[in-house]
Amino acid sequence: MFILSDPLLDMRFSDYGIQIPIRDQRAQAVLEHISRAWAGPSSCVLNLRTAADLLGIPDEDRGIHREDLERVHDTPFVEALFSEKLEAELIKTYELIDERGQPRRYRPDLAVRPLSALFDTILNQVWGTYLACRLAIESSPSAGPGPTNTGPGFAYFLGGGMHHARRDSGSGFCLVNDIMIAVKRLMAEGKVSSAWIIDLDAHKGDGTAELAAGDTSIHTLSIHMASGWPLDEESLTHAVAGRAPLVPSDVEIPVPSGGEASYVPLLRSGLAELEALSHGRKPDLAIVVDGADPYEKDELPSTADLKLSLKTCVERDRLVYDFLRERHIPSAWLMAGGYGERAWEPPAHFLASIVTPVAAAILEQDGKILIARRAPGQKQAGLWEFPGGKLEAGETPEQCLERELAEELGLKIKVGPFFAENLYSYRSGTIRLMAYRARVLGGQFRLAVHSEIRWVSPLELLQHELSPADVKIARLLAGEPL
Ligand SMILES: [Zn+2]
Repeated sequence: MFILSDPLLDMRFSDYGIQIPIRDQRAQAVLEHISRAWAGPSSCVLNLRTAADLLGIPDEDRGIHREDLERVHDTPFVEALFSEKLEAELIKTYELIDERGQPRRYRPDLAVRPLSALFDTILNQVWGTYLACRLAIESSPSAGPGPTNTGPGFAYFLGGGMHHARRDSGSGFCLVNDIMIAVKRLMAEGKVSSAWIIDLDAHKGDGTAELAAGDTSIHTLSIHMASGWPLDEESLTHAVAGRAPLVPSDVEIPVPSGGEASYVPLLRSGLAELEALSHGRKPDLAIVVDGADPYEKDELPSTADLKLSLKTCVERDRLVYDFLRERHIPSAWLMAGGYGERAWEPPAHFLASIVTPVAAAILEQDGKILIARRAPGQKQAGLWEFPGGKLEAGETPEQCLERELAEELGLKIKVGPFFAENLYSYRSGTIRLMAYRARVLGGQFRLAVHSEIRWVSPLELLQHELSPADVKIARLLAGEPL
């Protein structure tokens, strides 16, 4: 699994004199929370450059270009974005001028950068969405050789989700539709032939629904407030601007005001409906627009009609996550909407909930390393492993190893430096395996959950059938390529 985040994605609205309450530190707060929950920072967190490097994307193919936008948006709109009309399109998208022609949440006098410079950041956001999709697809088991994960690929992008952008214009703080631009580029490159877009933001995914309408290779689901923007403004927008009426998503789930208790059951039946639409053919990719604005602590006034508790937000995400996981569908998640001081909490708690931190000891003595074989009746019976176990609440990996080695092998150990980690997705869930070097201080060997132990050289490690998550650690110890 991967998490994608980059300071380049920071919209820094205040730099342009735009006063929108999206807290710039949302991504940072999520990363800090999961680092605490997972007992340390993880190598699964990538930025745009390291993600593109890992995917082996050549320099000339990096970034989002005009042709990517043209696959999705009308030509006159794309032309406007690459001309002096860009600023007017941004003003419209961010609703910076009201009906009377007066600035709204906009103080150009406070701007330190030209508004047009925002376009580069927006294109970086689209690039992030595309990269998250590639990471999800290419980390799935069928994607390559080696000790791959057995669970489907998963990438969470701390950005993206510009689901209101429509064919001919930006709308609702979304200039272009990153979701559809990413899907269409992946299709043009032959990397996917079908996709689901599951939109959990409080506001209807109107732009995505419009752009995917009539395309049988893309199915959309949107669960959103039954009233409020953009639904309430439809007749107005239609009449005033001559805009096309809103298009329903393939699975459209309006949640009525006060309908919080029905939210999860409605979503569950909506997912079943989405699956039925695909006639049993699972998509190559699912994109989840994981807006945090249905959260009761969200500060955007227009989301006041939906007030999910933190627990329900996490339940919502886990429902979709487990649904996709059980069907072995790779998924790219976009943080999308979420406003105010507490908007980081739903994605942070969801991500913390899907990974189990586990510690393993590389016990060394006279150039040999200890491995132990899981006893019959235990999980992974018959496989060899580095001894260790799951962290208990509040435990450090070092404390966990001291406890586990005493319980399982009767050993008193001294834990040394961190060696390596492996985020490994089993079908049953993802673990973060943290391996530490260690040595035996004393104690009397006894076997509790193992049937046998062996001291082996680093090269002999790979001659044993190891627990899949331990293979990467063994390869590193043996100096073999991953
Ligand atoms: Zn929203």
